Amino acid sequence: MAPTPSGVRTAADVVTAELVAQLCEGVIGTGRTSSHTPFTGKKLAELPESTPEDVAFAFHRAREAQRAWAATPVRERAAVLLRFHDLVLRRQNEVLDLIQLETGKTRLHAHEEVQAVAVAARHYGRRAPAYLRPKRHMGAFPVLTKVAENLHPRGVVGQIAPWNYPLELSVGDALPAFVSGNAVVMKPDTETALTALWARRLLIEAGLPKNVWQVVIGEGHVIGPAVVQRGDYVSFTGSTRTGRGVAQIAAERLVGASLELGGKNAMIVLPDADLDKAAAGAVRGAFSSAGQLCISIERLYVHESVANAFVERFVARTKKLRLGSALAYGADMGSLVSQKQLDNVTRHVGEAVAEGAKVLAGGRARPDVGPLFHEPTILEGVESPMAVCTEETFGPVVSVYRYADVDEAVELANATSYGLNSSVWGRNGRQAREVAARLRSGTVNVNEGYAAAYGSVQAPMGGMGDSGIGRRHGREGILKFTEPQTVAHQRVLPMAPSFGMDDAKYAKFMSFSLKALKALRFR
Ligand code: NAD
Repeated sequence: MAPTPSGVRTAADVVTAELVAQLCEGVIGTGRTSSHTPFTGKKLAELPESTPEDVAFAFHRAREAQRAWAATPVRERAAVLLRFHDLVLRRQNEVLDLIQLETGKTRLHAHEEVQAVAVAARHYGRRAPAYLRPKRHMGAFPVLTKVAENLHPRGVVGQIAPWNYPLELSVGDALPAFVSGNAVVMKPDTETALTALWARRLLIEAGLPKNVWQVVIGEGHVIGPAVVQRGDYVSFTGSTRTGRGVAQIAAERLVGASLELGGKNAMIVLPDADLDKAAAGAVRGAFSSAGQLCISIERLYVHESVANAFVERFVARTKKLRLGSALAYGADMGSLVSQKQLDNVTRHVGEAVAEGAKVLAGGRARPDVGPLFHEPTILEGVESPMAVCTEETFGPVVSVYRYADVDEAVELANATSYGLNSSVWGRNGRQAREVAARLRSGTVNVNEGYAAAYGSVQAPMGGMGDSGIGRRHGREGILKFTEPQTVAHQRVLPMAPSFGMDDAKYAKFMSFSLKALKALRFR
């Protein structure tokens, strides 16, 4: 990864044919495809392309490797995650380049992924043995029935990941699957496959047996269904529309699925909020990764008593954001990832303006910076049925609305079929947390936009309503990759009339026992 003579590293310096060959080693793909960098629109890498038959073979390989991996003591599996934690932090510059080149985001936004993956590796590396330990339960007859709950791996997990957080949503989500003894066949988005493949190579260096993680590459509608049709469990992150199709296949096959889907996330600024902090938080919440973040803020509700003062601060900060594409720290916002994303953003803004919305900041594409750049944009006067009011934009666009009282703000924030993430700002922490509890969303951040809840990896993260099913992080985030098994060992007395008791006496004895158990406060 040597820089050019000018000292500025380019895509060609980073993504060499040698690196691509190393990363793609072991990928089963008989066809060819390619990825591009949003910074210039030019080709980034030639990649193998997998067919549905290749996916079937990847599952076969993964299934064979999974048996030995599941038999490896959990402490050894957890140690792989802890070594991976150290390697990711040590080698972060390699992957920061790849994330930037594949997604077009700034280095600081790319670094959020390194942080999230390190936190997940540390948490599951340390806590997996406790999460996965067999548990004892009270049996049907106390003392006489000895009960253990064992947690078995599902087998081979089929994982499908989007392009927007290619490190975190590939390996970050796979770590709890691996540590609980599963193999994974993963389909990353083709445009961001190199980042997933880099993570795979690093995890193998940390000690993961190489066939336990298979990566397949190809068009979502071509090989995605093949992944869903073979997984013993499905872990999907992407749009609500694709997620519904994935859920249908999983339901038909009677396999479990976690679906991390879209959002239309709200932020509420309470009358007592620190407006400078709230404005800075709104910038982070709405424009990180150019708003291509499922938990990004797209609706901003501000109390009318502070609305002018807040908007003035928010607009001033937004106008100062610097767009940039250098493989270095410094820029505040990067590029959109694809023409499709840029078209969607342009459509949402254009339609809203045509129907009477006002642009307070931004509002235009910026081809002078790069083919897919768009200014961070603040709108006011947005109302239904403008698309930007209700549909997920998934770009750097946020609409400001004014409210008169907190009940109204809660009602407006909840007036969406999504329920992924929200944010509440107020100096009175207790009051802000009370408002938070009234919001129908899987995570709520008080005095932060999204990172506080996402970074708190011991607690579950995921969506309500159209934002999905299941959770990542914490106990839920690992137990979903396991099948609980109850082993009940009945001793001395059978679960039937015995010692010469007839049926009527047994029924009486059981009724008496049940009353006694309740009276003795057995649970
Ligand atoms: P998408 O649904 O188009 O694609 C996601 C993945 O699914 C890609 O790998 C794609 O190739 C694959 N895919 C496409 N068609 C498929 C099919 N028929 N069967 C199986 N797989 C298929 O979504 P996207 O545009 O890549 O990602 C953006 C969306 O993801 C946004 O809606 C965003 O909110 C959501 N998202 C959610 C979370 C979360 O944690 N809730 C995180 C990131 C992104």
